[in-house]
Amino acid sequence: MAFIKINKENFFHNLSQFLTKTGSKESIGIVLKDNAYGHGLELMAQLSKEFGLTQAVVRTFNEAQIIKPYFKHILVLGERAICDTVCSFTLNSLEDISKAEKGSIVELKVDTGMHRNGISMDELEIALKEIKNKGLILKGVMTHNRSADELSSELFWQQKRFEIVKSVIILHGFKNIRYHSFNSATSLRLPCNHQEMIRLGIGAYGYSELPTLYKTLKLKPVLSLWAKKVATRTLKKGERVGYGGQFEAPKEMTVSTYDLGYGDGWMRSNDFEPFVTAEGLPLLGRVSMDYIILESTKEEICIFDDALSAGKQLKTISYELMTQLHKDIKRVVI
Ligand SMILES: *Cc1c(COP(=O)(O)O)cnc(C)c1O
Repeated sequence: MAFIKINKENFFHNLSQFLTKTGSKESIGIVLKDNAYGHGLELMAQLSKEFGLTQAVVRTFNEAQIIKPYFKHILVLGERAICDTVCSFTLNSLEDISKAEKGSIVELKVDTGMHRNGISMDELEIALKEIKNKGLILKGVMTHNRSADELSSELFWQQKRFEIVKSVIILHGFKNIRYHSFNSATSLRLPCNHQEMIRLGIGAYGYSELPTLYKTLKLKPVLSLWAKKVATRTLKKGERVGYGGQFEAPKEMTVSTYDLGYGDGWMRSNDFEPFVTAEGLPLLGRVSMDYIILESTKEEICIFDDALSAGKQLKTISYELMTQLHKDIKRVVI
């Protein structure tokens, strides 16, 4: 099967870069949702701990259970709040408050403009009352920015609205609340030294989808995808390869099958603009469920080592390309 190399040095390098902005390891919440953006949940939890991080962010309680041994605190983004000593749970709506278990630790998400999740600013007072009535422990208040990675002033508009939210919370007498609203892109754009926690996802894995102007930190890709050779053959001029015989050999050539396909989460893309690997080899013909064909006889081939440029070739973003990689693909740390 294809395999993934995780470059520990680059991961630590990226974390160190963000550390220069936050000033403390405690204020970096490493986002490990969706199998740590395809890097491997438990593996990245281990490495995060080794670096000295203490906080993580995941989507499900299940993910949280797997990584509990590695962190002091875990924020769960998308699941009903229950009593747990390590986890806090995001309240995305008034309904979430009514469903939450009494005594659970919660973080209220407020919609400051993205209109995806979170209670609206108009609902803030009701929400706070309900949280008190239900006996929930409010640990944090958070929001998410819709345009942090675009060149616009929308980020600042949302940050202002979040300041208003803070003042309402304080007015209602809540104390020791942590406020957080920074993802990777926001952390690259704004100073982080006053943030109690940044929610660091894609940046830790080495990418920023921001215009170059905002690439204020040097980040290095952590993940590379590799495939192993299965079989080699010689094609005569005019012979065609794979399903539909989409690729025709223009001359005699030696090609090999490699063990990667859409069953591994590699995108099938289209036959007419073949993906070109990190080593400059175009995929020949159609991607099968488990195989691709390349003009090479090398035992191992690096498919991509930069998800940003690979994503561009496949007309998607680094996030999608990486999170699709099947969780059964072996991850090795180098
Ligand atoms: C995924 C996620 C993040 C991390 O975003 P990046 O752009 O990967 O840094 C932060 N906050 C929330 C609420 C998220 O869902």
